[in-house]
Amino acid sequence: MYDVLKTEYTFSCPVRGETRVRLSAFRRLDRLPGAAHPAVYQVSFACPCGNEHPGLVSHDELDWAPLGLEQDVAFVNLMTSRVETLASDLADIAARRIQAGEWPWSFFCYPEERPRPIFPSSFFLLAPGGSAIGIAVRCPVCTRTSVNLVSHEHVDLPFHNDAHVGVVEHVFLEDAVSTVDEFRAELYSARFDLRRMGLE
Ligand SMILES: [Zn+2]
Ligand SMILES: [Zn+2]
Repeated sequence: MYDVLKTEYTFSCPVRGETRVRLSAFRRLDRLPGAAHPAVYQVSFACPCGNEHPGLVSHDELDWAPLGLEQDVAFVNLMTSRVETLASDLADIAARRIQAGEWPWSFFCYPEERPRPIFPSSFFLLAPGGSAIGIAVRCPVCTRTSVNLVSHEHVDLPFHNDAHVGVVEHVFLEDAVSTVDEFRAELYSARFDLRRMGLE
């Protein structure tokens, strides 16, 4: 369902049958209660057909598949004309980069005043605004919500972390931004302050 070469998820669309979107096309993520191994997320995504549709994504597909883990993707190596498995190479590179202190995804936690590493399962609302995208993130450490304004690549490409991100200078109450519409309204009225990323 996740294509590691194109960094796209495949979902079904009532109009097109099958559709492919990047992570930044997700608009809402909700962890379903009950299913634990693996956890399953109900998502709503902006489809190229113009509508938003629901879809289901497992925790593995959300957080690990973009790093080449848990997936075998065969490709032809043009240098050797052999079919090789990309998954282990990608996973190997990802593991080495994480060990070297790089993180595939990050955000700026406003209540803690610091950048933090995260996985995509910590995003819960996403809304595009101009060339950027607003993300509401639940901090895995302090559990509070922060809203950042980032590039699409920051969301879609593992290990692409923006040097600076926009941060809403506001501590959000638990259910202050519970719907995508409220979140959009908050985004358009909010003042963003630029913060330097760079994780220690
Ligand atoms: Zn569609
Ligand atoms: Zn935090």
